[in-house]
Amino acid sequence: QVYYQPIIELSSGRFIKAEALVRWKHPRRGMISPVTFIPLAEESGLILEIGELVFKQSIAFIHQWQKRFGYIIQISVNMSPIQFKFMNKFNWLNNLAQLGLPGNCINVEITEGLLLKDSAVVQEYLLEFRNNGIEVSIDDFGTGFSSLSYLKKFDIDYLKIDHSFINQLINSETDRTLVEAIIVMAHKLDIKTIAEGVETHEQQDLLIHFGCDYVQGFLYSEPIKGKAFEKMLVAQSVRK
Ligand code: C2E
Ligand code: CA
Ligand code: CA
Repeated sequence: QVYYQPIIELSSGRFIKAEALVRWKHPRRGMISPVTFIPLAEESGLILEIGELVFKQSIAFIHQWQKRFGYIIQISVNMSPIQFKFMNKFNWLNNLAQLGLPGNCINVEITEGLLLKDSAVVQEYLLEFRNNGIEVSIDDFGTGFSSLSYLKKFDIDYLKIDHSFINQLINSETDRTLVEAIIVMAHKLDIKTIAEGVETHEQQDLLIHFGCDYVQGFLYSEPIKGKAFEKMLVAQSVRK
């Protein structure tokens, strides 16, 4: 099953994006976390089908919500490195075209390590995404090895500041400094920032003070089903 977690634009306070997060509803064991099964799916190759499922369900909701609310909710999908190896990128573009949706309704989340490989295939994909308006985010930023020059070279659109930094924002001066520095650096490179795992108002206020662009976390909503997400959009349009 695919769940969606709202991403809030701090300047307007509105949900204008979401991240698609997959769950496995096991008949006996209940909900199984992606942390448990994604590595197995990557090993077995099943991640390709999962990736397709997440993408297709996401664009179907984007299409439905566009018709109902008159605007596009951009959905971020997580992409495993092996998807780059085997997927046919033209399928996605065709699927989008069939629904009459622009490329920028989709945001692809990748990790820093993928850029470091600097492989021809990855480069080709990222170029193809960019040429078609699909946006790219670096997930869990700050936890892996980064090459700052690659952020510019690959024309990255967003950095998602890892929740481990946000978690310690109030207690650790080091993490506060790092988060502020990441935001300043990103903006200098013309990249937007999304803070992950925001759970308290204190964290939010500090992120506003640092000029962070977007926030995501339990303070706003847990990942929820598409129908529940739609209800939040209804409430938002009533508040407007
Ligand atoms: P991620 O991409 O870093 O996703 C964010 C995780 O943080 C999600 O865990 C989300 O439920 C959790 N989270 C959100 N807000 C908060 C908060 O305020 N506090 C805390 N403590 N956690 C928060 P989830 O859904 O268990 O997903 C875990 C990971 O599984 C994801 O990490 C992602 O790497 C992977 N994953 C999920 N769906 C997919 C998918 O469709 N494809 C691929 N390749 N990986 C996926
Ligand atoms: Ca992610
Ligand atoms: Ca993340």
